[in-house]
Amino acid sequence: MKILIATAEAVPFAKTGGLADVTGALPLVLAERGSTSGKGHDVRLVLPQYAMTKNWLANNPQFSVQKIIGMDVPVKGILIKGIIEELKYENITVYLIKNDDYFLRDELYSTQSGDYDDNAERFIFFSRAVLEMLKLKDWSPDVIHLNDWQAATIPLFLKTVYKDDPFYSSISTILTIHNLGYQGVFPSSELNLFSGINPEEIFTMDKLEFYGKINLLKAGIVYADIVNTVSPKYAQEIQLPECGYGLDGVLKQRSHELYGIINGIDYDIWNPATDKEIMHHYSLQCPENKRLNKLNLIDNFHLGTKGATSISLLDDIPLIGLVGRLASQKGLDILAEIFEPLLFMDVRLILLGSGEEKYHSLLQKIAKKYRGKISVNFGYNEELAHRIYASSDMFLMPSHYEPCGLGQLISLRYGTIPIVRETGGLADTIEEFDPLSGKGNGFTFTEYSGKALLQTIKRACYIYQHKTDWKRCVANGMNQDYSWASSAMEYVKLYRRAVRQRQGKGD
Ligand code: ADP
Repeated sequence: MKILIATAEAVPFAKTGGLADVTGALPLVLAERGSTSGKGHDVRLVLPQYAMTKNWLANNPQFSVQKIIGMDVPVKGILIKGIIEELKYENITVYLIKNDDYFLRDELYSTQSGDYDDNAERFIFFSRAVLEMLKLKDWSPDVIHLNDWQAATIPLFLKTVYKDDPFYSSISTILTIHNLGYQGVFPSSELNLFSGINPEEIFTMDKLEFYGKINLLKAGIVYADIVNTVSPKYAQEIQLPECGYGLDGVLKQRSHELYGIINGIDYDIWNPATDKEIMHHYSLQCPENKRLNKLNLIDNFHLGTKGATSISLLDDIPLIGLVGRLASQKGLDILAEIFEPLLFMDVRLILLGSGEEKYHSLLQKIAKKYRGKISVNFGYNEELAHRIYASSDMFLMPSHYEPCGLGQLISLRYGTIPIVRETGGLADTIEEFDPLSGKGNGFTFTEYSGKALLQTIKRACYIYQHKTDWKRCVANGMNQDYSWASSAMEYVKLYRRAVRQRQGKGD
């Protein structure tokens, strides 16, 4: 099959979050062994070329740009110049859409002072450029797999301005929603960006209109052949008013074409037996070295003081890690409620992340007050993230909502027990450990409250002191397979379904 993955970010070219992990890993697996015959698919990836991408290319000359083509992209009634840069990366072809006015910036979507004010224009340009590019390359994919609002207008263009062009007639589309909290909502004045489309035709409630504004993700939901999200549970949740962010109605209307496929993680990058970022390698068969990573981290981050030596901390006191965006979505508000009682317990905490200002200042205060018990690290730090996954005994993800979540999957792989709220992908992947049956891979709670979170941490700490049970729970997690292998096959099935649907053959 010929598959084009269109995304605003993908590892290693540009990353702000989990979306990049997914769109970076999935194409490589599909190209390697995506088909049932074991032969790979023809997979290509397209994303904008940002300053971050340019830096990566400069530092990795083995992946140099091989072809460059100029193009004119119709946006806001004029033609805007763009450049397609083509390169081979591992086993796939990558197209970088270049327009330095739009993309050569320090950040991808926003700065400290808010979103870039031309985001609608930047990503409508990108989406339109993707379709123009295909014709210039004379490559017509069977399916375009578009991700999130930034690429969501591609099916709208296909089904309007390009609908009578035979070159595009057999292209089917799948929209993956990675996080419904981000929809690309803009003033209706931005409708003029859609060159060649009569604004009145699409500014209706059953199309792009959203409470008097336009919603680019809605365009994808309405026009894509198939819509999916990143876990089965989240696919159900987003059809309910509590989690639908105003789009539950339109998602419900498409419920017969709405799927959920759990994300995988890249098992080459996330492997405690080979991880370049950690000092002591370990595995399910030889787990002892995990303790040495913990010892090292405790010493480096001064968590061994206050009346306990590092050695006595090693097995008696659990180290709890958290890596992620410091945002209310991630449960920081309920965690904030319980810092005091939690740090009163015999635990150590290490946090890494950046996000909302109110959590930065709160965490700074807590870190000062409880020096030696908590280490707070702001910013994005890949190396430290690996070390935290490898060294911690437990990993916190008390999310308010979580489309899939990667942190808990990485934790399982590193023998670090996730403590999660039962929502979205967390509910699909983490099961409460039951010491009687020996089943389960983590600790879970339902009620979104600090009290429920604290009780769950206490439950985990209790089992932590019963080493046989704890080892069982760790082994259960490490034994699971959340590599991309099975999820990629699910995607292939979905692509085939989209193709059949486009051909009018239904299921
Ligand atoms: P999100 O909703 O932010 O996409 P996910 O759990 O799906 O959350 O994925 C987050 C990914 O980003 C994980 O790979 C996590 O380890 C990584 N990550 C998040 N914050 C940081 C950080 N501050 N430093 C390093 N890695 C981070």
